[in-house]
Amino acid sequence: MAECYFVCSSDTERNNGKVKSCNMRFKFNEFMTPNCPICSAQMVPENEGLSVSELLQKGLREENNKKERI
Ligand SMILES: [Zn+2]
Repeated sequence: MAECYFVCSSDTERNNGKVKSCNMRFKFNEFMTPNCPICSAQMVPENEGLSVSELLQKGLREENNKKERI
């Protein structure tokens, strides 16, 4: 089961004045769409900004790192 970090999306929603940025950051199962326990804004995957190829390269690097460590 893969996990990844999610960050609170309240940064983009605070413009309407309802919520302040709370910068919550949690580790969840990557298939979840969790809500922030502080302000109940939707949590978004932290690596959302990366392209698919960047994610693949990152995954490959991490795999290689694991092998080197063993
Ligand atoms: Zn929040």
